[in-house]
Amino acid sequence: MLTGAVADDFTGATDLAAAFRSRGLRAAVVVGDRPVPDERVAGLDAVVVALKSRTAPVQEAVGASLEAADRLLGWGADRFYLKYCSTFDSTDEGNIGPVLDALRERLGTDRSVVVPAFPANGRTVRDGSLWVGDDLLEHSSMRHHPLTPMTRSRLRDLLAPQTDAEVTEVGLDVVRQGAEALRTALDTAPAGYLAVDAVDDDDLGTIARATAGHRLVSGGAGLALGLEPAGGHGAELPFPAFTRRRLVVCGSASTTTQAQVAAAVAAGHPTRKVDVSAALADPEAETASLAAWVRGLDAGSVPVVYSVGDPSDVRQAPAAAAPAVDAPGAGDPGTSDPGTGGAGPAGTAAGAVEAVLSGLVLELVADGTVDQVVVAGGETSGAVVGALGVGLLEIGPLLAPGVCWSAAVTDAGREVALVLKSGNFGSVDLFSTAWEALA
Ligand code: ADP
Repeated sequence: MLTGAVADDFTGATDLAAAFRSRGLRAAVVVGDRPVPDERVAGLDAVVVALKSRTAPVQEAVGASLEAADRLLGWGADRFYLKYCSTFDSTDEGNIGPVLDALRERLGTDRSVVVPAFPANGRTVRDGSLWVGDDLLEHSSMRHHPLTPMTRSRLRDLLAPQTDAEVTEVGLDVVRQGAEALRTALDTAPAGYLAVDAVDDDDLGTIARATAGHRLVSGGAGLALGLEPAGGHGAELPFPAFTRRRLVVCGSASTTTQAQVAAAVAAGHPTRKVDVSAALADPEAETASLAAWVRGLDAGSVPVVYSVGDPSDVRQAPAAAAPAVDAPGAGDPGTSDPGTGGAGPAGTAAGAVEAVLSGLVLELVADGTVDQVVVAGGETSGAVVGALGVGLLEIGPLLAPGVCWSAAVTDAGREVALVLKSGNFGSVDLFSTAWEALA
């Protein structure tokens, strides 16, 4: 049995895969449309394809989602999950409705539940409306989201402009009658979408049991947390051993990452700041100089290479390419996206820092110096994944919400353990403590 999922951004894909793992499933994230040898998928219980489709043009999002579904079908997936944000980030044009319509057709099923609820993160659905903490979605900060402003809260009203299919609301009274009654209600409802109320984790468990036989489900990562634990807990699942040296690279300008760098300095880690001027003038020389510094250190140390120690280190770009020191993070925590390569344009400080940090990781992994790397920064993570040529990340131990180890094989065949984190994620001592989970 393989569960195949399509996620509309990288962070969401990782959250979902981590949720699967916590339910005892061996799970991996496939990065966009990168090639993945079939044997890497063998033995997995869940594969989540990470797209960048949340705010892509509708036809692009539909095309990429169908391609992902076809890959998953090719790997033998028999159950499918469309993962979107728990704040239902979309516009009247899409992309949730059109992608769901296309997946239903491709998978030959006439219905799907719609379950954005994630009670642990404060997202609940009551009387068909989505709440963020104590606020209706339309009164939450999502109302002012630059790309997907959410000005309605009722799932039916959100979905109706995006699809011709019928949207049926399934209330908490039905959910609370248990999985059997809910299954009957879901299976006898009109074809289309079933917006199901869920207020707590038990409700998600009931929905997960009631939809166990459904070909397609959709929701936030919360729904996966409702799955029956399969034969044990995530922590007991196998994860490869890594025995070479460790490295931290930070391209994030977020206050959390700055605090993590300061904590690493205080804890005695060898630290070195990227020389942005040198990186701009000659990125390869700056990379080589950093690599030589790492090689010269004690092999047991954990060097930390960073580019922003305090806000004055941020080199403003002439164009609007400077990094946000702290994004407002209105929707799911962490919206930066280490999907398929960094965003910093060539010739800018951002691009130069991405090139140097990703080049450094590549150089030290390629020659076998390093095989465990923590990367801070969403775009920076994308640049590292791109440089290494990684297609599949098998999810390992969870370190914090949205932060986990993953195991990957580079396109040159090197095995590497990676933490790819949004800048503002993780505990302040992450750079010192992350390694304990691998020991
Ligand atoms: P976060 O997850 O915190 O948003 P990202 O890695 O996504 O972090 O984004 C940070 C961006 O800032 C990257 O493009 C990175 O290369 C760029 N950057 C890092 N340091 C500097 C600096 N000193 N000056 C200018 N840009 C920088």
